[in-house]
Amino acid sequence: MKAEIISVGTELLLGHTVNTDAAHVARELSALGVDLLHAHTVGDNAGRLEAALREALERSDLVITTGGLGPTDDDLTKETVARVAAAPLVEHADSLRRLKEYFGTRPMSANQRKQAFLPRGCVAFPNAVGTAPGCAVPLAKGKTVILLPGPPSELLPMLRDSVVPFLQQRTNEVIASFMVRTFGIGEGAAAERIADLTGGANPTAATYATGGEMFVRVTAKAKDAASAASLAAPLVEAVRRRLGDVVYGVNVTGLESVVVPELIRRGLSLATAESCTGGLLAKRITDQPGASAVFGVGLVTYANAAKTRLLGVPEDLLRAQGAVSPEVARSMAANVRARYNSTFGIGITGVAGPDGGTPEKPVGLVYIALSDEKETRLRVMRPQGRYLGREWTRSRAASHALDLLRRRLFGLPSEPD
Ligand code: ATP
Ligand code: MG
Repeated sequence: MKAEIISVGTELLLGHTVNTDAAHVARELSALGVDLLHAHTVGDNAGRLEAALREALERSDLVITTGGLGPTDDDLTKETVARVAAAPLVEHADSLRRLKEYFGTRPMSANQRKQAFLPRGCVAFPNAVGTAPGCAVPLAKGKTVILLPGPPSELLPMLRDSVVPFLQQRTNEVIASFMVRTFGIGEGAAAERIADLTGGANPTAATYATGGEMFVRVTAKAKDAASAASLAAPLVEAVRRRLGDVVYGVNVTGLESVVVPELIRRGLSLATAESCTGGLLAKRITDQPGASAVFGVGLVTYANAAKTRLLGVPEDLLRAQGAVSPEVARSMAANVRARYNSTFGIGITGVAGPDGGTPEKPVGLVYIALSDEKETRLRVMRPQGRYLGREWTRSRAASHALDLLRRRLFGLPSEPD
């Protein structure tokens, strides 16, 4: 099946809104094995939208529009699609009922009510969080136009709950997709290691890099979920084996979702002392349900005085080595562990930037220490190439800390091979 996306909205053309909707739709289409041929953006203009629609329908079987479904006068997508499909807008009973429910006792304007009108013969997609329903409009020659609301908070659940099942039915295939998630390997190196595994048509494997992590998505198509999963399984295993211990999980959400459950399972505990990450590590740990069983204390000791007062890092150590030093990271980790009676202590200190770097301690340099009753392991995060910003540096440092703990928990070497 060939598909196109038309993103509708003047704010997209002005650069006020980043077109994340198109990215979400594109990702789902690719997971469904639908070939996306074009993605266009048009302003809130009926004439140009109509031209884009007709052109897309010449080439493709499926056109997905985003935006312009709301109650205001510049929301014209539905009217334009109705004209192109020669399907008049008729009141859709279930959508009207939902709309009335949404408004409750509040008055509903004629413009609001307009949202319950959908092109005749369409399949309606309920809007779980907003007012404008989406829909799939059938056209001649088996073609379809799918209309989705612009706000990502409305588009995402509709995509997942209505559009994907709708398209799955039509493609008569089920897609199983597995994210092999890694930490500690670059996309180039990973791609090289699995080069001979990425050529297949079904299952497929492809590398992705986002936010300092790299993952491999393995996807298989089959007539049912179980067959698709068993088709993908050997390739998932091969990718895992090839990449080695940088793989921290398959279809997991992040390093913390592996580390925290393992601490819980083994009845171990953790205390953290953070400087440059400002509590980001504690946040990621406590994002996990059940974290309270293993995580009692997370300190943010930003100033030297706080490192001394709350952690007992010796003043002369801070003076002699500087706050950003292996020695201070080790002291933070060991002391937070001992003071707060935990199995593990983590200490993080570094230069998040953009200012404050020196030739010896450049921006992006972070020391991360993990202490247990026997030893303290240290990881040095050095700036690589250009500085990628404060947020990136901090988030990456928190990931390094979680990876260090993961490696300790699963008996792996401190550094990737
Ligand atoms: P509403 O009922 O809110 O009017 P709508 O379906 O009419 O929804 P638009 O009016 O086009 O959608 O856009 C509403 C808001 O949704 C925009 O201001 C913008 O914040 C967001 N939005 C629209 N299109 C996109 C897009 N392609 N990517 C990300 N956000 C978008
Ligand atoms: Mg709108």
